Amino acid sequence: AAQIWYEDDGDLSVLAGKKVAIIGYGSQGHAHALNLRDSGVDVVVGLRPTSKSVEFAKEQGLEVKSVPEASAEADVIMILAPDQFQRTIWANDIEPNIKPGAAIAFAHGFNIHYGYIKPSADHPVFMVAPKGPGHIVRREYAAGRGVPVVVAVEQDPRGDGWAITLAYAKALGALRAGAIKTTFKEETETDLFGEQDVLMGGVNHLVECGFEVLTEAGYQPEIAYFEVCHELKMLVDLMNEGGLNKARWSCSDTAQYGDFISQVVDDSTKKRMEYQLGRIQDGSFAKEFIDDQDAGAPKFKELQEKFSHEKIEEVGPKLRGMFSWNKGEAADADENQSF
Ligand code: NDP
Ligand code: MG
Ligand code: MG
Repeated sequence: AAQIWYEDDGDLSVLAGKKVAIIGYGSQGHAHALNLRDSGVDVVVGLRPTSKSVEFAKEQGLEVKSVPEASAEADVIMILAPDQFQRTIWANDIEPNIKPGAAIAFAHGFNIHYGYIKPSADHPVFMVAPKGPGHIVRREYAAGRGVPVVVAVEQDPRGDGWAITLAYAKALGALRAGAIKTTFKEETETDLFGEQDVLMGGVNHLVECGFEVLTEAGYQPEIAYFEVCHELKMLVDLMNEGGLNKARWSCSDTAQYGDFISQVVDDSTKKRMEYQLGRIQDGSFAKEFIDDQDAGAPKFKELQEKFSHEKIEEVGPKLRGMFSWNKGEAADADENQSF
């Protein structure tokens, strides 16, 4: 069985007298910096001086320095810039300034697993990877709860790697929910698989496809939106609480029967998932992504532009704006830069 750690397994005193640098102040960065600070940890945020996040972080009472300065004084450096930029930040700003023996941390194993970052052997290297978006990591902590994490130690030169990892996870609020032991390889490969085959690449395309089928058959877009998008959250909430069985149990017999006989997802879907998994395992997905990023991200930008005009996005923003439950926190992403 998987090893799972909870609140009593982490000792915050391991971080006492230590400085933790959080590099980046985006989705994960703001959550880690604020949660650790509120847990009593000495935090410095490392940002480019030109970053518009400098002001956001300072408004929250955080100390902000340049990445080289923050790296130079830190005992633990958590790298929370986008994966595709981490190796350049590491090479230019972190590695030349890092203290001997300082621990290096990640929220996703990508750069270590695929060998884009290779810290020297005297540095502990660990991972605390929240299984949820950064804004939820902060929201849950503030509510006295936590988002579960997976944790791993890749290099442990002094033997204190796990103590630091669990202390960090506790300060993040994650041990309130639980930390599951993994490896950089397992986290990286399963995280990429989850997002490209089920959570995003699966669900997003399923929603858009269902919306197109209904509207092309002449049904009202507003009705189609509710059926294939809005209700999804309620089923997922039930799934989250009690698994597929609870989600099915709450639905009508008619819905359950339709679910059982549906041929939308079949063995060929599984074959395509296995193909995608192969490209993750052999590194070709990582190479494709990083090569495109290194070329200025032409393919990524083209795809972002293309997918921002999906049919459901033509009615989605208007509909959501009309809904009483959708004021405030749940506003559209671009209006909700809450950090
Ligand atoms: P974001 O895109 O939200 O982070 C952007 C931050 O990185 C900004 O503060 C940005 O500052 C900074 N940044 C970008 N380039 C540089 C640079 N060259 N030097 C210094 N800072 C820079 O990232 P995420 O939070 O989405 O991801 C961070 C890590 O967390 C990744 O490893 C990701 O895989 C992982 N993760 C993310 C999750 C999520 O919820 N998004 C979930 C679990 C793991 P600037 O204003 O200067 O651009
Ligand atoms: Mg993930
Ligand atoms: Mg991911």
